[in-house]
Amino acid sequence: MIPPAFDYHAPTSVAEALKLMGQLGSDAKLLAGGHSLLPMMKLRFAQPEHLIDLNRIDSLRGIREEGLVVVIGAMTVESDLISSPVLQAKVPLLPEAARLIADPQVRNRGTIGGDIAHGDPGNDHPALSIALDATFVLQGPSGQRQVKADAFFHGTYMTELADDEILVEIRIPAFQTKTGYAYEKLKRKTGDWATAGAAVVMRMDGDKVSQVRIALTNVAATALRADAAETALLGNRLTEALITQAAAKVMEICDPAEDLRGDRDYKTAMAGEMFKRAIRKAAARCQ
Ligand code: FAD
Repeated sequence: MIPPAFDYHAPTSVAEALKLMGQLGSDAKLLAGGHSLLPMMKLRFAQPEHLIDLNRIDSLRGIREEGLVVVIGAMTVESDLISSPVLQAKVPLLPEAARLIADPQVRNRGTIGGDIAHGDPGNDHPALSIALDATFVLQGPSGQRQVKADAFFHGTYMTELADDEILVEIRIPAFQTKTGYAYEKLKRKTGDWATAGAAVVMRMDGDKVSQVRIALTNVAATALRADAAETALLGNRLTEALITQAAAKVMEICDPAEDLRGDRDYKTAMAGEMFKRAIRKAAARCQ
């Protein structure tokens, strides 16, 4: 199917893009990799009269270290996350998980910023960002503001981003040594979105859990942080009984939509199973 006609704009700076957004208002949409937006336009779920393409804004692409924080430009594509030596060393969950997103063609164009800004609970970066305690930098006409990933996702396709703002950076604390991590994603076939996914980032003090963040993909209207499961684990010996107890807390907060990937009970059970696999793998990596 062919999308409706639109005017195309290709700014070369964030300032120019913001100016265009101000002039064109709600008739305009930002274009990143186009792998979510263009399918929606073809289906007439989105019918923008103007597309503002961010691909020529070099400052929005790249991965750098700023002290103990890794900063990722919003227009950085998935394949660059996978091949980044900085991420492999400092935030290894991200390149590992990005390999589970879509297929190589999509990963060569799809951006981390587009994946987050789209607000699709089926996308993987929302839960990964929450587990990684990421902060998003949003730039609008009156400057920048920072929003924690925890507070960014309001509902399906609804986020904290205002109509006149651009997501410019994703800031992630670098892992301390002996940080355990894992992302477990159940999918029906290569290239599919998650039936259910669980991200875990943790540290151990001896055999006790000293830090843990858990987030879930595609089992509610937004990515979910599993706070009650984190509380159940913190300060306790990580036994199989405790993992089962925490998995019950994970499943309690799931509220998935029924679709071709499964019914609510199945998806909820799979979220519990993905969590169990993720925490066992993450704990083994804390050594
Ligand atoms: P676009 O499609 O260009 O934009 C998406 C939305 O975000 C638009 O509304 C746009 O205006 C807005 N936007 C984009 N960038 C910004 C910005 N910097 N600031 C503010 N707003 C912005 N994703 C997964 O996570 N996991 C998967 O398993 C997966 N499988 C896929 C399989 C297929 C076959 C396809 C086609 C896509 C799949 N995706 C998956 C989605 C893919 O990762 C998309 O690339 C991603 O959702 C959107 O990124 P994009 O760069 O293509 O953004």
